[in-house]
Amino acid sequence: MNPKDLWNSVLGEIELQISKPNFLTWFKNSELVEKKEKEGLVFVSLPNNFAKEWIKNRYHKLILGSLRTLDGSIKSVEYVVRTQNLNPLTIPVPNSKKTFSVSEEIQPILIESKIDPKTNLNPRYSLKNFIVGSSNELAYAAIQAVVKDVGIKYNPLFIYGGVGLGKTHLLQAAGNAIKDKSEKINILYISSEKFINDVVWAIRNKRTEDMKKKYRDVDVLIIDDIQFIGGKTTTELEFFYTFNVLYENNKQIILSSDRPPAAIPTLEERLRSRFQVGMVADIGYPDYEMRLAILKTKISNQQLRIEDKILEQIATKVQKNIRELEGVLNKVVFYQQFKGEKIDNKKLEEIINETIQVSAKNVTANEIIKAVADFFEISQSNLTERSRKQEIVEPRQITMFLLRELLKLSYPHIGECLGKRDHTTAIHAYEKILKEINQNPALNQKILLIKERVYKM
Ligand code: ADP
Ligand code: MG
Repeated sequence: MNPKDLWNSVLGEIELQISKPNFLTWFKNSELVEKKEKEGLVFVSLPNNFAKEWIKNRYHKLILGSLRTLDGSIKSVEYVVRTQNLNPLTIPVPNSKKTFSVSEEIQPILIESKIDPKTNLNPRYSLKNFIVGSSNELAYAAIQAVVKDVGIKYNPLFIYGGVGLGKTHLLQAAGNAIKDKSEKINILYISSEKFINDVVWAIRNKRTEDMKKKYRDVDVLIIDDIQFIGGKTTTELEFFYTFNVLYENNKQIILSSDRPPAAIPTLEERLRSRFQVGMVADIGYPDYEMRLAILKTKISNQQLRIEDKILEQIATKVQKNIRELEGVLNKVVFYQQFKGEKIDNKKLEEIINETIQVSAKNVTANEIIKAVADFFEISQSNLTERSRKQEIVEPRQITMFLLRELLKLSYPHIGECLGKRDHTTAIHAYEKILKEINQNPALNQKILLIKERVYKM
């Protein structure tokens, strides 16, 4: 049998023994490239290192067994990464001298830089890489004014706009720009969710003095998604006091929300009027030119090559959410570089539909649990049992992470879903994965592949 036929027969057998998605993910781009007759050695090539390691660890026995039933002279298999057809790109990783070659480590766009634990600022967000157009120029100008005259000009600065339009980016970039001006300025960025948790925790543990100090000692307080604070009486009150102390001392406050102050229904009147005393600026939907400019900037920052025609099509079709715009771009990169697929119109259409559906489709906790279990080829009950085996611990932590990230489930609920575990276990798992995802491209890829399945179910 020639190598091609031999491998096709092996694939035929393997296909019957593992799930279809796993088969497609791992074997679709595999090849048997060479057989050394004398040594009884065959070489199987895979598109990248990640696939190679995965196949070696999980499917080696299956592959060797199947090869040997078909050809008794085969004694061993070696797995290699295919190197032909790869453009010789290397991708610089922010803040690092290391470069990854595309063939080995994919997902460059998702490699994030480190978040500063003191300020919660992520250096990936800067004013320089924020594209300005008519939809966001007011908000951008207001942020610039605040950076220039901290605490004086527009206080508080309240920025509002729909999901994925750049609020977090602008707030973070403002923090980074102020930090660049002077290391002495004490900045704190926080989501309102975290603020609420802090308040609740402090009250429960009788540590309100510490908490007050933490928030009232800063020079610049940035709270993202403040709309969540509405209706939480104690938190609102605590925030109200903090706000007053900071405001009276000319400390800068920057807030974001998905809607203007007047439209946050449960917000107490006195807080609402506080929000309106400074500057309120909105961010609207980006126009075509701006969408295209965003895509082109992302591509050139990452030194990637994607055809203009494809970028134009993405910019035409994804209109209302810059996060989705990036999501589509990430996937195009993912398919092109990781899976080695050619992106034609049909494929692009598929990617776009899939990504935009993501926000429309309601995924359930069970679907996530099932997708993780299938991906790792373990049973769903493995995820809920009390095992500490690494083969189970990692999938379980990833499940917890995804339940939080995709469904925003509360930690106690997540603990409940995974075998009545304590909520602190869920918090630990979420934070651990969140931290590692930035440092570990392989983990990042696993999560991306699992998400892809979740949304295809
Ligand atoms: P929001 O907080 O409003 O939901 P984000 O700030 O998280 O939105 O933005 C979503 C994504 O889009 C981020 O990755 C962000 O960097 C990117 N983004 C948003 N607006 C711009 C812009 N004007 N220029 C470049 N990137 C942008
Ligand atoms: Mg945000």
